[in-house]
Amino acid sequence: MASPAIFILEVSYYPVKPSISVSREDYLKAILEAASEGHTVISATLAHWLAVSPPAVSMALRRLRRDGYVEVKADGVVRLTPKGHEAAYRTALRHHLIERMLSEVFGMPWYEVHDEAERIEHAVSPAFEALLSRKLGVKGSCPHGNAVLPESPETRKRRGVRPLADAPAGAAYTVTSLYERDPGLLRFLHRTGIEPGGTVRVLQRNYDQTLGIETPAGRFTVGPAAAEKVQVRRAPADRRRRGR
Ligand SMILES: [Zn+2]
Repeated sequence: MASPAIFILEVSYYPVKPSISVSREDYLKAILEAASEGHTVISATLAHWLAVSPPAVSMALRRLRRDGYVEVKADGVVRLTPKGHEAAYRTALRHHLIERMLSEVFGMPWYEVHDEAERIEHAVSPAFEALLSRKLGVKGSCPHGNAVLPESPETRKRRGVRPLADAPAGAAYTVTSLYERDPGLLRFLHRTGIEPGGTVRVLQRNYDQTLGIETPAGRFTVGPAAAEKVQVRRAPADRRRRGR
């Protein structure tokens, strides 16, 4: 009598599986990255970050909780367990190393490496990860100027780094890092000549929150959605000229 019940449970479980195209590692990495950027991670944060539906997130979180990777308390905040943190960090580290391999070894442009790394990171064996670590080191920054884990706005501020959206006009800035999870944004920034390590001069700040900027590629108008995702610090030459 027990076997039909088990059978029903099995068929009702498997059909939902293929609807989640985002892997467990993707969820864990998104939770870790969002938290280290200073976000409070709730279900909606993940739906937004991973561009998946809220029901898909609920289902994934149930599974991650069942398998001991996350805790979700009554306040709805998603936290990684030590096991979840370890798995998330390893995925973030593999992503970082692969981006650097594609850029430093193969010369792939910085605005293309993120998507490629998203695909490859799940297939890397521990042995290959160790080889990459040895060759590239884990300290450096990726082609977008980011460390293995992103920084919070407070940490950036302490280093004199702020979003381009907040940069006063009439000064030149060095681009320190870019938000790398949006391929459309990266292509847009590339077209406007904004790139990691490059220089941007803010010519004017407009009433509609757009910025008039000048880069080696020319003069452009950039809206706040993009300008908030570019981190800059005052260009050294600019600081010298102003006697600071
Ligand atoms: Zn990167």
